[in-house]
Amino acid sequence: MESRAAVLWGIGEPWKVEDITIDEPGPGEVLLKTKAAGMCHSDEHVVTGDMLMPHYPCIGGHEGAGEVLAVGPGVTSVAPGDHVSMSFIPSCGRCKWCVSGRQNLCDLGAQLFDIGMITDGRIAHKVGDTTLARMCQVGSFAEHLLVAESAVVKVEPDIPWHAVALVSCGVATGFGSSVHRAEVKPGDNVAVIGCGGIGMNAIQGAKIAGAKRVIAIEAMEFGATHTYSSIEEAQAEISALTWGEMCDKTILTVGVMTGDLIEPALGLTSKGGTCVVTAVANMMENDAKLNSFMFAMMNKELKGCLFGSGNPRADIPMLLSLYREGQLKLDELVTKTYTLDQINEGYQDMRDGKNIRGVIVFD
Ligand SMILES: [Zn+2]
Ligand SMILES: [Zn+2]
Repeated sequence: MESRAAVLWGIGEPWKVEDITIDEPGPGEVLLKTKAAGMCHSDEHVVTGDMLMPHYPCIGGHEGAGEVLAVGPGVTSVAPGDHVSMSFIPSCGRCKWCVSGRQNLCDLGAQLFDIGMITDGRIAHKVGDTTLARMCQVGSFAEHLLVAESAVVKVEPDIPWHAVALVSCGVATGFGSSVHRAEVKPGDNVAVIGCGGIGMNAIQGAKIAGAKRVIAIEAMEFGATHTYSSIEEAQAEISALTWGEMCDKTILTVGVMTGDLIEPALGLTSKGGTCVVTAVANMMENDAKLNSFMFAMMNKELKGCLFGSGNPRADIPMLLSLYREGQLKLDELVTKTYTLDQINEGYQDMRDGKNIRGVIVFD
């Protein structure tokens, strides 16, 4: 079929909306009409080259919501008309990681940066005769998209599209960073370092998990009990605030991760505390600075985190039910909506710090 998509032709280029063609769904595949797509910082990492795609041109977007138009042979979990959240973390449901409750590490994730479909490896999206890659096997900056069944999660049909889109990456990742990975407990002091769509939801997750204090650093309030503009400013204040204990959990959700942030983040972390790194660094970044003596002597823990260390098939419905009950704020996250043709304007607003999350809405 024919459709339109925002395509990146190379590092540093603007998004260009192109006419594209998409294959009919083959076995195990689902054709979607996109309804909303979140403008995540990770797509910006592809534009800057921090995260390299194996192939350009590439359709952007990995956070989204859509309606099922058609399904290929063998698809059983969704049918035409169903509302789905797109999950850039595919979950096969059968591998060792899926069956042990670690769907974020599903073996299918090894194909996230492949140009061909997860199902059979064929290239199903083209602009003219040119083959197209898709961001993380999704490509939600498109009016239609073809994805593997493993990359969609059915949701309740009465939930607004923007909410369904947001929980598919940023919200699940931020919330899970606090709840699953840091294992925030009632009474904890928690610091969240970094502004934006992930940090806001790490703050929300920490509050829901029962944190006593949620300290936002270089992040907007969004339920935080204390806010500071820099780690340096926060250091002395947190020491006074916590009677020298510091934070049980520190979560790094900065826009671009660099190794020199590790030691200051550990400096905010208490004895026996946990520091979670959720942010995306340049793929070539190999240096992390930390005082190894104090790290060991203070019995601290440093953890990486992908997709909030969560399970898309459990977490996406759970987050939407928290939203339905008024406990998770999603509407407030959407600073501004854009059309597909306004995508460059939306990303410029993100660079200028004008939005927490921009969302592209489709007809
Ligand atoms: Zn994302
Ligand atoms: Zn799996």
